[in-house]
Amino acid sequence: MTKPQTGATEYDARIRRAERLSAQHAFAAEFLNFYKHVAAFQKTLRANIAAPSGVKSRDALGVELRSPLDLTVLLPHFRGFLSAIEQHAPAALSQAAHQMALLPSDSWIASLESYWQHAGKYDQQVGAFAQFLPRAFLQPYAEFRAAQMPQAPMVITVRVCPLCGSRPLIGALRVEGDSGKRFLLCSFCSQEWEFRRIHCPTCGEQAETKLPVYVAEQLPHIRVEACDTCKFFLTTVDLTKDGHAIPLVDDLAAIPLTLWAHEHGYSRLQPNLLGT
Ligand SMILES: [Zn+2]
Ligand SMILES: [Zn+2]
Repeated sequence: MTKPQTGATEYDARIRRAERLSAQHAFAAEFLNFYKHVAAFQKTLRANIAAPSGVKSRDALGVELRSPLDLTVLLPHFRGFLSAIEQHAPAALSQAAHQMALLPSDSWIASLESYWQHAGKYDQQVGAFAQFLPRAFLQPYAEFRAAQMPQAPMVITVRVCPLCGSRPLIGALRVEGDSGKRFLLCSFCSQEWEFRRIHCPTCGEQAETKLPVYVAEQLPHIRVEACDTCKFFLTTVDLTKDGHAIPLVDDLAAIPLTLWAHEHGYSRLQPNLLGT
């Protein structure tokens, strides 16, 4: 199956989903409204990357997902990205975008290249806020590269993305046969891979009694899947309960669940884009 390289349909679906969730859940409306602007920028950037004048083919770039960034294509869009963020983001992030815009392009390149090398591997120490700018800007590029890669071999239950080696961001339960099959979604390139249901993706715990699940009343299709052995949790979007959900977007609305998890001493393995 080949994915459309422009990704326009995917981005439109994310934007519509954010609109729908923000209308339903006032507690997440501010973040989701901001996310809509981010996704709209990402859609345009992805179309530019995929254009015939855009990024060279996989053969020219090499087969590694993280082979060097094509800065000639990316950099001309960075200033426009910063001003979009400055205009629409919550105050602290808006200020960070403003500061970044004042720096010379050498600093932009350093920030983008550092994110590109390390993201998805050590993010927890960096934090969602510090990495927001390079992450939101490069997400369409990482997704474009992932769509160009040869299909990863179908290995099941590996703890890092088979395509790029990053940790999972969230889980997804998708309808398969009579029940649901669990997938993990990569925090860097957004690809999914299959993962066993009763199995902690952080430490490998498999005892059901050590793996509590929490569901909040407001969002019955989202689960916190925690682990009492390593004290990490993974947010999992259950598409068998809501087939319209888009895990990447629904996760941004799961604020009550994250609060519950933190109150109970569980940490998130990888922060989402907005750190919610
Ligand atoms: Zn990946
Ligand atoms: Zn664990």
